[in-house]
Amino acid sequence: MSEIGRAMMKVGVLHAAGDLKLDEAERPSAGPDDIVIKVVAAGICGTDLHFRNRGTRFGTPMPLGHEFAGEVIDVGADVKSYKLGDRVAYNSNNSPADMGRGGECGGFSDYVILRGVDAHPQSLCMIPDSVSYDHAALVEPLSVSEHAINRAEVEPGESVAVFGVGPIGLGIVAGLKARGIDDIIAFDLSPLRRERALAMGARLALDPRHYPVAETLSRERGMGKVWGVDLPKTDVYFEVSGGRGVLADIMAMANKRSRVIVVAMQPEPLTFDVSRLMSKETSLIGASGYPSEFPEVMAKLADGSLDAEAMITHRLPFSDFLNAFEVANDANCAAKVVITF
Ligand SMILES: [Zn+2]
Repeated sequence: MSEIGRAMMKVGVLHAAGDLKLDEAERPSAGPDDIVIKVVAAGICGTDLHFRNRGTRFGTPMPLGHEFAGEVIDVGADVKSYKLGDRVAYNSNNSPADMGRGGECGGFSDYVILRGVDAHPQSLCMIPDSVSYDHAALVEPLSVSEHAINRAEVEPGESVAVFGVGPIGLGIVAGLKARGIDDIIAFDLSPLRRERALAMGARLALDPRHYPVAETLSRERGMGKVWGVDLPKTDVYFEVSGGRGVLADIMAMANKRSRVIVVAMQPEPLTFDVSRLMSKETSLIGASGYPSEFPEVMAKLADGSLDAEAMITHRLPFSDFLNAFEVANDANCAAKVVITF
C-alpha cells in the first residue's frame, strides 16, 4: 500500500434532512480491480437539493454527488479498462456504484473509488481533450435533457414550449437548438433562468405571471380549432417545472397531436379529461434518466455542436461546499452550480 492509503480527505455527507456536512474520511486506495479518481469538478443536482432538503430513502449517513468528472490517479494491478491519467466523467445511470445515491462514495469528495471497474466500464466515460472538466460534469444533467428530447422525437421546424428552465430545462433548450429547432419558447418565474434560456437558444423566455401561457402561444404561433375550440399551436410541450397546475394547464391547451413530455417530479396526482386526450390525440410521455445518451452528449460537447456554458451560474471551491448548496437552492440566483476542487 502506498502512503496515500492513510491520507485523509473531505467528503460531503448528508446526515439527515437539512444536515449536510463536510466530513473527514480516509482517502481510498485501489485494490487489484479498482481505480481511484481525483475529482476535479462536480455539479449540484436538483436531486442533491431534494435529498438535502427532504432527506433520503437510501439511509444516512450518505455521501452526495453523482455529476462529476476527474482524473484516474490510482489503478489496480488487474484493471484493463482505464489507466493512470485518464480523464473521466461518471455515468451515473449506467453504473452499479450508485455514487451519491446510497453508494459507498459520492462525487462531492476529493477522491472516489470505483470497485471492480472492468465488470462495468460504462460507469465512466472518457473526456475528449476539447472538453473541460467543468463541462464534463454537465454531461449527466445534459443527458437527462437529451433523453427527454429523444422521447419527444422533436423534428426541425416544430414548435416547442419548455416549462421550467432550471438546469434540465436549459439543457433541453440547448439540445433542441443543437438539433436545429429554432422555435423554442420558455417559461420560468426566475429572471436569471429566463436570461440563461435566451442565451442557450430560446426565441422567447417569459414570466407566465405576466404572459399567460395559452394567450402568449396563440399570439406567437396562431391557433388551430379542435372540435370547435380554438387552441394555441405548439407541437411539443416539455413540463420541467414541477409547478402545481402546470401539467393540467398544458393538457387543457394542447392542440391536435401535441406531444407532452413530463420530465419533472409532479407535486400531486393529476386529474384530467381523458376524453379530450382521446379526441385531441394528445401524446403524454414520461422521460426519466438516460439509458444511452451519455456518450452522445459528451461527443456533442467535444465537437462544439452543443454549448452548455451558459447553464453554469456559479463555480465555487469545495471549501465553500455548504454555502454552494444554499446558492443552488435559490432559483432566483442560480441555475447550475459547479464545485471545483
Ligand atoms: Zn443529476
